[in-house]
Amino acid sequence: MDQQTRYYSTNHKVPEVKLREALLQGQAGDLGLFMPKHLPHWTTEELADLADRPYAEIAHLALRRFTGGMLGDSECRALCNDAYDFDVPLEHVTRKTYVMRLDRGPTASFKDFAARMMARWLGRLVRDRGGELVILTATSGDTGSAVAHAFHGVEGIRVVVLFPVKEVSDRQRKQMTTIGGNVTTTAVEGKFDDCQAMVKRAFADPSLTSIRLTSANSINIGRLLPQSVYYIYAYTRLADIAAGEPIIFCVPSGNFGDMMGGLLAGRMGLPVRRFVIATNANDEVPRFLATGRYEKIVPSRVCISNAMNVGHPSNLARLVDLYGGRMDEQGTLHQPPDFNAMGCDLYAVGINDDETRRTIKEAYAQFNLLLEPHGAVGWAGLTRFFTEHPEDADVLTVSLETAHPAKFPDEIRACVGVDPDPPPSLVGLDQRKECYTTIPADYDAFHEMLVGEFKR
Ligand SMILES: *Cc1c(COP(=O)(O)O)cnc(C)c1O
Repeated sequence: MDQQTRYYSTNHKVPEVKLREALLQGQAGDLGLFMPKHLPHWTTEELADLADRPYAEIAHLALRRFTGGMLGDSECRALCNDAYDFDVPLEHVTRKTYVMRLDRGPTASFKDFAARMMARWLGRLVRDRGGELVILTATSGDTGSAVAHAFHGVEGIRVVVLFPVKEVSDRQRKQMTTIGGNVTTTAVEGKFDDCQAMVKRAFADPSLTSIRLTSANSINIGRLLPQSVYYIYAYTRLADIAAGEPIIFCVPSGNFGDMMGGLLAGRMGLPVRRFVIATNANDEVPRFLATGRYEKIVPSRVCISNAMNVGHPSNLARLVDLYGGRMDEQGTLHQPPDFNAMGCDLYAVGINDDETRRTIKEAYAQFNLLLEPHGAVGWAGLTRFFTEHPEDADVLTVSLETAHPAKFPDEIRACVGVDPDPPPSLVGLDQRKECYTTIPADYDAFHEMLVGEFKR
């Protein structure tokens, strides 16, 4: 295993760095995204050894292969035990198909998995270095609350969350605006794309260099590595490992950070037969894979699976890189990836809101399976895949459910007539006091706010 793997930028214009630097910088200086130069490899025996271990232990054994040069082994284990103290249910649905519920963390979305690990890594790095680190995050729904919650109370770190005022559900908003402390929440009178653009511009703004800024969006490699773990977990729980049984994963996708975690796990030796990638009506990636032409969707389309309303996914450059191509941060393709290989590994499909709602109803009626809009996009994509590939109907399959249905009570009630029970993390939320400011979708207003809060 290579404990000191280095990270290169997908734009290849800056030197390689160690994990520590990649985490602290977020985005590379040339506006590319960091990628590990080498990946550890899991043998069949090593995978078999993971079967039935608790999630936190699997996370420790998987992540220490990356953090070896940065953390001691016992510290890595302690951080994993601390971060992963909740269940990861694998719900059997039909044939060999399961739903993995990644919604039992403190903010009830899969983003807790990465945010909690990254907060612990960065907290430790800041403690070593001293000084203050400011984390900027644009959110289309769930990143903001996961990041705010994970970093709440971490010494030396302050968090700024920008969210599009009209595009998040009440509960999603309350999860961010009721935290306080070292967390500043700001509503933007615009779209998610505006929030993301403002954050990106701040990272590149020379007048802000005296503030140490980093990103907790999935441009940060610290988001991707922990997201490879639950793929390994699901596989080792369900598969006949010794026989090398293949698996299909279905991933509802927006910025494609979740899927990248899966692809990395595949490159580490997990026998993944296919990734079914489902987007909502922001289907620029399925189109790209089908036609080889990339066209962003500007502005992004508003869909009920709001955390996936992304018209230009930040991880696309990484996907292209993994298949030998090169794409810059604007989405310009400088070298095409191997589309044939991508076509073998990935099946990508866009699902609109009507189909999403229909899927919520049908899954409930047919399987007593309660899905929220994001997981339903995935399930609908999987259904399409099986229609086109009946030969795969009996392959072990895991569809990711990325949020808890109780985060979207109005939609669920309208579709299936039940009120999903809120998990403990959401109980009492509706009554908590909110605190946030609102700014126009204008970089100058954001800049003024940052300078006022953080400049020394
Ligand atoms: C963020 C999010 C997604 C999309 O994940 P990406 O890594 O951006 O592709 C899907 N579902 C939910 C509930 C999310 O919060």
